[in-house]
Amino acid sequence: MPEDPVQELRELTAALEDWLRFQRRLGWTGTPAARETQAAAQPQETGRALTLKAIREELGDCKRCKLAHGRTHIVFGDGSPRAALMFIGEGPGAEEDLQGLPFVGAAGQLLNNLLSKLGLRREEVYIANVIKCRPPGNRNPEADETGQCLPFLLKQIEAIKPRVIVTLGRVATEALLGTQAPITRLRGQWQKYGKIKVMPTFHPSYLLRFPRERHKTWEDMLQVMEYLADHGEN
Ligand code: URA
Repeated sequence: MPEDPVQELRELTAALEDWLRFQRRLGWTGTPAARETQAAAQPQETGRALTLKAIREELGDCKRCKLAHGRTHIVFGDGSPRAALMFIGEGPGAEEDLQGLPFVGAAGQLLNNLLSKLGLRREEVYIANVIKCRPPGNRNPEADETGQCLPFLLKQIEAIKPRVIVTLGRVATEALLGTQAPITRLRGQWQKYGKIKVMPTFHPSYLLRFPRERHKTWEDMLQVMEYLADHGEN
């Protein structure tokens, strides 16, 4: 039995209020609606989800570039269509190609760990790549491949309207921002894509090879979380 149960209850309530405020700033709009309000809440969600669905339909069984021949699955993207936070990687690897989902291999495990340390679940962010089909031997995407695929990613961004985009590594940063500056210089420095704040950081594959650099991505992500907490309800 706690010494002062009333005081303990007050502290618990205060902690819960803090947590709820933090979640709200990240774009969380509440618990599932009661039966009578659910119908009214639905159109907005369905509207955004439908837009992603329409983009996926437009992509179809894509054969716009040479990567189509070698792929098992198109890796469209994964997560919440209303995410405040979006991650953009380079392109699917072997495991992603097999499962049709982004970041489900070793690099994905590291990304999952990072999300969970930040108190985020994969389902509440959105994860996509610059290109949607696996390049042979995981080579970098070529210009024609990016040229065909990038417009779909930009439409996904338009549909989701995240408040912050985190670009993972040089390829994603260069594709989105059109910059040639090295990732070592850009990471940790806020950039913009239209009105959306962009935080470039290291790619998880790089962090697997150079674990001593992980603290830098951690620091970049803390900046992102702080921004989301301060600008959640614009
Ligand atoms: N690397 C990426 O850039 N994207 C993935 O989906 C997986 C690994």
